[in-house]
Amino acid sequence: MNFYSLGSGSSGNCYYLGNGQQGILIDAGISTKAVNKFLKEIDVPMHTIMGVLITHNHNDHIKGLKVLTRKHNIPVFTTRKIWNSILTSNREISTDCIREIVLQQKFHLAGFDIESFPVCHDAPETIGFHICTGDKKMTVATDLGIICQTAAPYIKAANLLVIESNYDEQMLVNGRYPYYLKKRIKSDHGHLSNHQTSEFLADNFNENLSHICLAHLSKNNNTPEIALQTLQHTFSKRGITLKEQQRITVLNRNIPTEMITLTTTALPEDNIII
Ligand SMILES: [Zn+2]
Ligand SMILES: [Zn+2]
Repeated sequence: MNFYSLGSGSSGNCYYLGNGQQGILIDAGISTKAVNKFLKEIDVPMHTIMGVLITHNHNDHIKGLKVLTRKHNIPVFTTRKIWNSILTSNREISTDCIREIVLQQKFHLAGFDIESFPVCHDAPETIGFHICTGDKKMTVATDLGIICQTAAPYIKAANLLVIESNYDEQMLVNGRYPYYLKKRIKSDHGHLSNHQTSEFLADNFNENLSHICLAHLSKNNNTPEIALQTLQHTFSKRGITLKEQQRITVLNRNIPTEMITLTTTALPEDNIII
């Protein structure tokens, strides 16, 4: 399982997940030109991308979708409600590429078993993804104001976790954003703060979590150093020490972050993948 972040944050989100032969993208919030360039740098040809998963209709997650579907004809997977919200203002997306998925119903794509789950955010619908291959599980949960009871099990089950750590509370409070925007970000349908994410990770820390990626950092209300320090500080306060193979990465906002590879072991065919 190879994970590669092409961009993460309010300027544009796009992640690649592959298995050596085929892969998928999660969100298309950067230009197709940038996707092409960044995938080329890791020797991934565009024709090996079997689909794009979309989390919600905010521009930082879909702004590359029109060109990506028109130029490369890649199928795009999201729920009906999210499709409706995308298509009302993006009529030029190639309709050939529309694939509907059902919340919490597994589907198979590019060698991965994929399940979507709802998260709390201020879009008509927002989802996270839980993606499994062999014995390894990855969860992507960005753009959520709180970790609700439905989302929590998917986040806790991950070996590789991409989770939002959007803002530092002090920076947001003291920053220049208007009151309504501060209120929106802090609300249950806004974004997760460094503190919220760190507390959740400390509460639910387990040895199966081999890689934490702090994602979707705010440009104005956070820094990679503060996000990382908040998590490290929370862990040390709780007496949590990382095992040698456990890693924390802060994803870059505008450039790719070094590839993360988890070695997978095939499960027997009759095994139930949770
Ligand atoms: Zn976003
Ligand atoms: Zn959003």
